Amino acid sequence: MIGLVPTMGALHAGHMALVERARKECAPVYASIFLNPAQFGPKEDLSKYPRPLEVDVEKLTAAQVDGLFLPTAGEMYPHEFSTYVHVEGLSEKLEGKSRPGHFRGVATVVLKLFEIVRPDYAYFGRKDAQQVRIIQKMAKDLNLDVELVICPTVRETDGLAMSSRNAYLDTEERRAATVLFRALKAAEKELCAGVRDTLALQHAMRKVLDGEKHARVDYAEIVDAETFEPVVRVGPASYAALAVRVGNTRLIDNMLIHAGDEVSVEL
Ligand code: AMP
Repeated sequence: MIGLVPTMGALHAGHMALVERARKECAPVYASIFLNPAQFGPKEDLSKYPRPLEVDVEKLTAAQVDGLFLPTAGEMYPHEFSTYVHVEGLSEKLEGKSRPGHFRGVATVVLKLFEIVRPDYAYFGRKDAQQVRIIQKMAKDLNLDVELVICPTVRETDGLAMSSRNAYLDTEERRAATVLFRALKAAEKELCAGVRDTLALQHAMRKVLDGEKHARVDYAEIVDAETFEPVVRVGPASYAALAVRVGNTRLIDNMLIHAGDEVSVEL
């Protein structure tokens, strides 16, 4: 069974957890590093995105991946390239609203990676919950013969979700960046106290976020885990989803909520 771990490089423990999981379940395991220009907006951080290629290769070698796919932008998008995948609806919500065209770029490159590598299993992180949902929808709609494996978010000891973009944070911003995790924990506390109303949960998150002077909220919403539509009450599967700018760095995080008679969360 072929396993694929697609990444944009600047590898951290979150990426390596995907590789480890793939190694347990598949052989051979391939990783890809491709900083996909199609998923960056014109004012986004493509040019300053970290590219520590040698260190990445060392990490993947130590993790015993069987192969690394390292295409150039010109190979993936040759001169006359003109075909894109657009997963309608889901791609316009939350991240899609803030980053027009982002998910078109993601879906297109992931479909290309699937076609080139032909994996049986492909490994993604829940940190990018909407991305993986869109890829799932694409796989279903286009009858792709690949199984997606969704892995939990790997965090720093203070709760900050690992991200290649954390490298942009200075010391003060790095401290402030824990506000996303703190906001999600505040929502968890309300859920455990029996709150199901999403306005009240959003209010709890906002209160924490508004208390952090380095943070500017892009969105802090509770949505259905399948459709990413806002919900009035948390249901069997919802996401609390956050996008927050800390200084100039845009960070995202989420918490998966299962609410019925009992409530549980995945952070
Ligand atoms: P990226 O290099 O940011 O495109 O991420 C490549 C893959 O790693 C995606 O499936 C991400 O969801 C996943 N990923 C990124 N950060 C984390 C994390 N902190 N924990 C688990 N998976 C992650």
